[in-house]
Amino acid sequence: MSVLIFADQFQGKIKKTAFEAVQYGARIAQQTGSSATALVLGEVAAEELAELGQYGAVKVLHAADARLNDPEAAVAAKVAAEAVAKENATVIVFAHNFTGKAVAPMLSARLKAGLVAGAVSLPDTANGFVVKKNVFSGKAFAHVNITSEKKIVSVLPNSFPLEAGSGTATVEAFSPALSDGDFRIRTLKVETVSGEVPLTEAEIIVSGGRGMKGPENWGILEDLAHALGAATAASRPVSDAGWRPHHEHVGQTGFTVRPNLYIAVGISGAIQHLAGVNGSKVIVVINKDPEAPFFKAADYGIVGDAFDVVPKLTEAVKKYKGN
Ligand code: FAD
Repeated sequence: MSVLIFADQFQGKIKKTAFEAVQYGARIAQQTGSSATALVLGEVAAEELAELGQYGAVKVLHAADARLNDPEAAVAAKVAAEAVAKENATVIVFAHNFTGKAVAPMLSARLKAGLVAGAVSLPDTANGFVVKKNVFSGKAFAHVNITSEKKIVSVLPNSFPLEAGSGTATVEAFSPALSDGDFRIRTLKVETVSGEVPLTEAEIIVSGGRGMKGPENWGILEDLAHALGAATAASRPVSDAGWRPHHEHVGQTGFTVRPNLYIAVGISGAIQHLAGVNGSKVIVVINKDPEAPFFKAADYGIVGDAFDVVPKLTEAVKKYKGN
C-alpha cells in the first residue's frame, strides 16, 4: 500500500492547501507503515518540489508538461489515475479546494474508489478506514467508513496546522500518456487579483456586512485588516450590491473559509452566512444590535457601532504590534 497526494500549484507555486494535504497523506503513510508520494502537475521549480519533503513526501512525481500548468479537471484525473497505477497507491489524498472538489470525484468514478470530501480528522484505521467530516453546514459530524480497495480523501483547508520538518523528497520525472485530444478546454485569459491574501488560505479575515452602510466606508475595515495582516471578506448582499468584489463573498453560496480568526462587522449572522464561516477557530462579532443572531455563534462579541469600535480596535492592534 502507498499513499499518493495530489499537490496542486498555481503559477508555479505549490499551494498552502497542497502542503496540508501532503502532511495529512504522510501521516496516513506513517500510521499504515507505507510511504507518501506527491504528484505535481505543470512547470514548478526544483526548490518548490523539494519543499514537499519537509511535509513528509518521500518522493515527488513531477509531470512537467506545460499543458498541465492549469489543467482541466478531466485531464488532471486521467494523470492522477496513471500515477495511482504506477505507484500502486491505495489511498489518494487531495486538498478540499477548487481543484480537489473537481478532480477527486472524477478520479473516484474512474477508480471506483470511495471518496470522503472535506475530512477533518486522520482516518481511524483500527477498524476499517473511518474518516470524520462536517455535515449540515458544520452543525454535525459524520464518520464515514471507506470500504473500497482504493480510498480517496480530500482534506478541509486549515484543519491541520502545518509543521515543517527536515525531510527531503526525491523528484522523479513523470510523463503520463496524453494526446492533444485530451485537452478539450483552452484557457484564453487569466485575470488574478494581486497583492491580497487569498481568502481560503487566510489565517485572519475581517468581514463586513450591510451594517457598513456603503462601499465608501470599507477603509476602516481595510485599515484593521492591514494592521492584522488579514484578508477582507463580505456578506452576500454586500457583493450583490457591488460594494465589494464577488471573490470576497463568503457563505453558503460564496467561499467557505476556516481562518484562525474571523471578525464579522455589521453582519447579522444569517444561517446562509454562518454556513461558510462557522468552521473558523475564533469568531469575533461587532454589531450594534445585542440581539443579532451572530452573537450566538461568536466566541467574543462587541455590542457597539462599527464606526466607533473598528478604528479603536485598529489603534489597539497597532499599539500592541508596536507600529
Ligand atoms: P443584514 O442582515 O442587513 O445585517 C446587517 C447587520 O448590521 C445587522 O445585524 C445590524 O444590526 C448591523 N448594523 C447596522 N448598522 C451597524 C453599525 N453602525 N455598527 C454595527 N452593526 C451595525 N448571505 C451571505 O452572507 N452569504 C451567502 O452565501 C448567502 N447565501 C444565501 C443563499 C440563499 C439561498 C439565500 C436565500 C440567502 C443567502 N444569503 C447569503 C443572504 C442571507 O440570508 C442574509 O440576507 C445576509 O447574510 C445578510 O447580510 P448582512 O448580515 O450583511 O445584512
